[in-house]
Amino acid sequence: MNNVSLLINDQDRPASGGATYDRINPLSNEVATRAAAASVEDAKAAADAAAAAFPAWSALGPSERRARLLKAADIMEARTNEFIELMVAETGATPMWAGFNAKLAAGILREAAAMTTQVSGEVIPSDVPGSLAMAIRQPVGVVLGIAPWNAPIILGVRSIAVPLACGNTVVFKASELCPATHRLIGSILVEAGITGGAVNVVTNAQEDAPAVVEALIAHPAVRRVNFTGSTRVGRIIATTAARYLKPVLLELGGKAPLLVLDDADLDDAVNAAAFGAFMNQGQICMSTERLLVDEKVADTFVAKLAEKAASLPVGDPRKGDVVLGSLVTPESGARMLELINDAVSKGAKVVAGGQVNGSVMSATVIDHVTPEMRLYSEESFGPLVVVIRVKDEEEAIRVANGSEYGLSSAVFSRNIARAINIAKRIESGICHINGPTVHDEAQMPFGGVKDSGYGRFGGKAVINEFTELRWITIQTGPRHYPF
Ligand code: NAD
Repeated sequence: MNNVSLLINDQDRPASGGATYDRINPLSNEVATRAAAASVEDAKAAADAAAAAFPAWSALGPSERRARLLKAADIMEARTNEFIELMVAETGATPMWAGFNAKLAAGILREAAAMTTQVSGEVIPSDVPGSLAMAIRQPVGVVLGIAPWNAPIILGVRSIAVPLACGNTVVFKASELCPATHRLIGSILVEAGITGGAVNVVTNAQEDAPAVVEALIAHPAVRRVNFTGSTRVGRIIATTAARYLKPVLLELGGKAPLLVLDDADLDDAVNAAAFGAFMNQGQICMSTERLLVDEKVADTFVAKLAEKAASLPVGDPRKGDVVLGSLVTPESGARMLELINDAVSKGAKVVAGGQVNGSVMSATVIDHVTPEMRLYSEESFGPLVVVIRVKDEEEAIRVANGSEYGLSSAVFSRNIARAINIAKRIESGICHINGPTVHDEAQMPFGGVKDSGYGRFGGKAVINEFTELRWITIQTGPRHYPF
């Protein structure tokens, strides 16, 4: 069992009163982690520590901040095996997914390190004689990052890496479902020299989340919030942030469509669909949830995909090599069954998988899905993909856009001009032509539209999210005043 304490001002601290909560391994039902259950006072102490650390951290030169972030990336890679062990125990993920998480997270730290010298401004021509006018970007103060369990290292690091690179200090609120995985990120950053309270990690019991999160958002030193998680909680965060007038970046749910046009390379499309739908048991915000397939090629495509899905090994990742490991909880498995039963009772056909055993579920493909079924519009967040047959590309675009979500999407066609014109019409933050919906790189602008959230992580765009743009002038000659 892992024991996890809060990280406040570089110190391991128990929660006030010694409160703890347990995270249960979804496969063994044993306690994977006993974590500190922070109170509102603990949350405030974490924000206080970050506020106290801000003057020193923000005053460090960009090369020094870069060196420490690069060191953190190296340590993260060196400690990959620890991450794999924690992630497998806490979330039931496969070692492949956990290892990929550590690798990409190290990449996010290196990209953030490269951004320390890119926090730039401009000189703007002024109409006032002798006035030198500048727009400069400055760190904002304390940034609150809240990240989920599904890609815990990637999303945890993403929530704080660029904020730190820009000179801010951070409070990272861990997911209740993977406190040890998230807490290790904090230890690594401290070990890399990001110290003095610049990084603080708060773990909390599920029932305390509303009060702890509100206390953090409300804290006067917290100037920006970023949240990755469900659309349901995202709305609560946005509403709370609005009450305290705190800008927030929201990365929320998705229902990514993959369009298979009548001229698509079907083998390529099948491989992308299987990877996008079943990687990490479909528990990725960019997971392919809807296959919008031209009816002229649908029979062939579905047969090939069903065969591929049936070939994917599934089971306990601690006992052997599997492609699909465990869902995050047995309750999630029960929800998948409900969704399947709802679709089947309304006329859909399960063409692959459909078996659920506790938190373990086979790769499932459901054909002939129609709007009355929950799976048509609800994010499944499981290894479950639906086929919606469409008569032409116009119908494919209409169905793709007929969703409240708009994070990732993909179009498969051998005619690239046709595909790019369709890509431009899809309402999503991200669209890949002849590639899977699941694709993330640290230097790319990542984010959604509609109920998938607003704001962008990645690339240079994210600097704007975590800096204040200030107008500063220097009067270099005599100034004329009217009186
Ligand atoms: P979740 O929204 O259930 O929980 C996330 C966080 O919200 C937790 O830290 C929890 O403490 C907090 N929370 C819960 N209730 C709260 C309340 N009332 N007030 C304040 N905070 C509260 O999300 P999850 O189940 O952990 O993650 C899965 C979801 O995340 C999926 O919908 C998925 O699509 C989405 N996601 C999005 C992205 C992206 O980049 N867009 C990436 C990964 C996951």
